[in-house]
Amino acid sequence: MLTTPRQPGSRSTRILVWLLACCLGAALGTALEPANSQAEAPVEYRFVVLSFEQSHVLDPARGEFRSSQDLQISNATDTAASSIVFNSHPSLVITNLTVTDTTGAEIALGPLRARGEATVFRDYVFDVWEVELGTTVASGETVVFHIDYELAADGALDAPRDMYEFTVSPQACYSVYIGCNPLFGDASGAPYQMTVRYPQSYLLCVPGDLVSSQSVEGDRVDIYRSQKPYGPSFACARYRKVVKSNEQITLEYYLYPQENFAEEMAEMTFEILSLYTIRFGARGTSVYRYATVGPVNATYSSGENKGATNFVTDFAAREFAAGSASGQLDYFRLMSHELYHKWNLGDVTWVDSHLYEWFGEGGANFVSAWAAEQILGLEAGAEFRRQYRSNVALSDCLQLEVTLENVTKTGGAEDHLLYNYGALVWEQLRQKLGDEAFWAGLADFYAKHGGQSVRVVDLIACLEARSTLNVAAYLDQWTRHNARIDLSVTSLETVAEAPRWTSTVEVMVEADRDYELFTAIGLRDANGSLETTPIRLTSRGSHSFTVTSSEPPASVVLDPHCWVPQTNLENDEWLPKSP
Ligand SMILES: [Zn+2]
Repeated sequence: MLTTPRQPGSRSTRILVWLLACCLGAALGTALEPANSQAEAPVEYRFVVLSFEQSHVLDPARGEFRSSQDLQISNATDTAASSIVFNSHPSLVITNLTVTDTTGAEIALGPLRARGEATVFRDYVFDVWEVELGTTVASGETVVFHIDYELAADGALDAPRDMYEFTVSPQACYSVYIGCNPLFGDASGAPYQMTVRYPQSYLLCVPGDLVSSQSVEGDRVDIYRSQKPYGPSFACARYRKVVKSNEQITLEYYLYPQENFAEEMAEMTFEILSLYTIRFGARGTSVYRYATVGPVNATYSSGENKGATNFVTDFAAREFAAGSASGQLDYFRLMSHELYHKWNLGDVTWVDSHLYEWFGEGGANFVSAWAAEQILGLEAGAEFRRQYRSNVALSDCLQLEVTLENVTKTGGAEDHLLYNYGALVWEQLRQKLGDEAFWAGLADFYAKHGGQSVRVVDLIACLEARSTLNVAAYLDQWTRHNARIDLSVTSLETVAEAPRWTSTVEVMVEADRDYELFTAIGLRDANGSLETTPIRLTSRGSHSFTVTSSEPPASVVLDPHCWVPQTNLENDEWLPKSP
């Protein structure tokens, strides 16, 4: 996913703490209402979702939503579980809950207790529930968790708000990623089947394969299935559907009725897809969908990828359609980031160490800048990385205790570490390996592991097979530490030696340790043209470089391609002393 980073400290905190001591018994005949009380000890989630079977009935205009779900869940701990802890969205009322074992026998349930609230995925707050089990569930054992929900009497919104907030409003009803799914501690992805019944005047967008679609008493009932372990998501609105095709690819846009559509949006998307297909291989998908979610006239650009389906706010498309250059760049940024997720998160399933988050989000930002370089030109790529570099310098993310090895998405400085510092780590790796080995290794990874469950060591092995570098050891300095580096230009002396000018540039490296750094020295002439010379730095301290240019330099720009994460960007430019 991609969200324009929010400034640190903008997290909203809800002070609603409530607890319910209501008897659930074997079956919940009546809707549960929250009551005020105190939160308990930190919540321990013990179960993970193996699969979802969901059936939603919705009518946005009437503010109606009901869901009936069967989840295969498994005890992921080493010990037997005597209760199940899960999250549900605060606007939903649980009307029924049963648990059965693998033989179909119902397990007696104790009271369903509200355990307060928990922050799940960034700053989204969910209710926490715990239900006691009449018999314990052994480690690794699977049970079927059947839950029925409906929208609380005051749960409908006047209009869509946040794209990740479960929404039932007259214009749209959607659940993206976390939304209305019962969760077990964090966003749980799993294969799913989803049945949605909705009014015929609306359109529905769901990731996965459409199994059937039929008309029932004036409504439409669609069934979708996904073998990919996504957090089951859907969006239903009075969409305007726009379809664009070239020889290989069809793009389906589900737009809010008032949204404009620019033909160039499709052209740009085709170009990005073509580049990725050539570089990373075709993945057997020919239809890509984009569904608008979130507020009408959103003030932020954000997207959530589920393979070939993307949920996006209307911001980037609106800016693009308005014809602004920055709007086109924003749109490119969003599309190139989300489309790469089709490969790096959609077609491989990460099953291990936390570094996959870096692969996912840092990787998507890195590839997005590279795609901009390839399609829009070198400066566009540098512009994308300039944004990453400045987010790193300004966000305090390098001072975090967490590193790329264990950082999670919080919406704060941690996201900057993951998305922005992470992207520049990829760039350093690319420079270290060289383009040929780097891209060949990545292409090998998708060719060999596409459609499979993968571990980070599989990626490392593919990159190492194409080079002599111990990639894992090389990455440690970036992923086990937050590299704190500041590059500066401390002097420039230029002499004219026809037909070129020769400049001696002193570069200072201050850092928490020695790094091998790939960057460049740029000499800018009086007209603003930049001539760059690649340099490699291997240690801290002062380093002298002799570079030549065809014009006398008016200034020196260090790291002009924006490849190096830095703590301070104020001292990267140098103006020569007046003669
Ligand atoms: Zn992303």
